[in-house]
Amino acid sequence: MRLDVEIDPRSGFCNGVVRAINQAEHYLENNSHLYSLGAIVHNSVELERLKEKGLEILSVNQLEALKDDVILIRAHGEPPATYSLLQRNNIQVIDCTCPVVLKLQEKVRTVYERMCPLGGQILIFGKQGHAEVNGLVGQTGGAAIVIDSVESASNVDFNRPVALFSQTTKDPVEYAAVAEYVRSRRPDAEIYDTICRQVAQRHKYLVDFASSHSMIIFVSGRESSNGKVLFELCKSVNERTFWVENTDDINPGWMHDGDRIGICGATSTPKWQLEEIFVYLRGLSENQ
Ligand code: SF4
Repeated sequence: MRLDVEIDPRSGFCNGVVRAINQAEHYLENNSHLYSLGAIVHNSVELERLKEKGLEILSVNQLEALKDDVILIRAHGEPPATYSLLQRNNIQVIDCTCPVVLKLQEKVRTVYERMCPLGGQILIFGKQGHAEVNGLVGQTGGAAIVIDSVESASNVDFNRPVALFSQTTKDPVEYAAVAEYVRSRRPDAEIYDTICRQVAQRHKYLVDFASSHSMIIFVSGRESSNGKVLFELCKSVNERTFWVENTDDINPGWMHDGDRIGICGATSTPKWQLEEIFVYLRGLSENQ
């Protein structure tokens, strides 16, 4: 079987994830152990690699018991309550909150402080319970309303002023639909364009990449919300898009002779993993 295989040159970790992983690895060069509050990246293969170097993941519930230690805060960021708890427990923080997320947190806080006395509401378009969303809601003392669709936005009380923000990794097309609906219900609504540029650009680019190959292998952890969005995007323009976490998930029966296969991934997929898939597929091509 002849296969033409290409890695999407724009896939790989986003800057925020690269920065967090670099800082973790840098710390672990001189120390044998480091806690991370939540998974530093939604990718089990990359997490295993970091765990072998000494990274240990803690949940927020486990934080109460941790004292006098060091912890890394990942790119998604955390609400103010987490920082207060860490301070109370004398825990040193390696803060890897992505600068883009940090800026969004500040914006949500200042708009909330301005709108709160006027009875205004903050709407966050995002995934309920996602760490970044929790961090944003925390800027409003828990008052922000999380919506995940036009349908859920329809439950908002539009008699009161509203400001709308998006989680950084949401689908720009979906956000535009939600923003349009909010504006139709409340023409003076404040709508903020807060999807990360890297994510928005990747959306546009991936549509071209996926439609210019006969088959797509999309590589990402199953827990990655950005992975889910980008996989659906590829699938919408190329029916033969397959989601894999590693080479074990690949079924050689998917391929046809002469296929032009594109390999791409989420903002939480490392380049080395795309290369591993590339080598595997090239092997299939040469061996058959
Ligand atoms: S997707 Fe964008 S905002 Fe989110 S961590 Fe990556 S660079 Fe930062």
